[in-house]
Amino acid sequence: MSTLEIRDLHVSVETKEGPKPILRGVDLTINSGEVHAIMGPNGSGKSTLAYSIAGHPKYQVTGGSITFDGQDVLAMTVDERARAGVFLAMQYPVEVPGVSVSNFLRTAKTAIDGEAPPLRHWVKDVKSAMQGLRMDDSFAARSVNEGFSGGEKKRHEILQMELLRPKFAVLDETDSGLDVDALRIVSEGVNRVHESTDAGILLITHYTRILRYITPDFVHVFVDGKVAEEGGPELADRLESEGYDRFLPGAVESA
Ligand code: ADP
Ligand code: MG
Ligand code: MG
Repeated sequence: MSTLEIRDLHVSVETKEGPKPILRGVDLTINSGEVHAIMGPNGSGKSTLAYSIAGHPKYQVTGGSITFDGQDVLAMTVDERARAGVFLAMQYPVEVPGVSVSNFLRTAKTAIDGEAPPLRHWVKDVKSAMQGLRMDDSFAARSVNEGFSGGEKKRHEILQMELLRPKFAVLDETDSGLDVDALRIVSEGVNRVHESTDAGILLITHYTRILRYITPDFVHVFVDGKVAEEGGPELADRLESEGYDRFLPGAVESA
């Protein structure tokens, strides 16, 4: 079993006017086999949390800790985090002209495992993961992210996750820009990985609709850089009907 532990995490982002504090004391513990949803209004710091876990250089940790099975994640390079089994969808959102999806995936897999996957199994695995995500075979030959539609980017993220088989995955707004059919296919992919690998999953979303397909064990409401409320899946249902209004500035506390 693996555990990602975030303790009193404070993070600032580098801006032209200097460092701007975004995360103000985040506490989260995620074990393998668990799906945690982080929900919150735009600008509450959800992506900042994702980038901080992945080690994006623009985000500066000013306090607190992140550990993975007791190892200090913050002391690891981005590559070391990936090799430790921590995966961030959108970790490589850039276009990589001239590098095909299939070469990119094989290179990433080799870097993470420390050895190249045996070709025969690999080709089969890629094919079956692509079929599961209803991707055409020709997708494997395309340049990474070049001209990808929003939906293709999301499928490519989940394809990476299926093949890299992380111990812990952060999915940031995997539902954004997907129509209902694509949302279902992508969600089924996430569920497949979760069930076959027992990976811990941190699912970041503004909307509740993806939670109809991926059932979270825990829901954390994120407001102004920290967790404002926590609960089970029923909390997502409440947000669905009530929205985030009661968490926003000026909201009146009610019993
Ligand atoms: P969310 O994902 O919840 O919408 P973000 O983590 O993207 O929130 O952003 C949180 C806050 O940090 C916002 O106010 C945003 O404007 C600010 N922020 C994030 N990244 C940057 C950046 N690179 N430069 C300046 N401000 C940033
Ligand atoms: Mg589970
Ligand atoms: Mg975001």
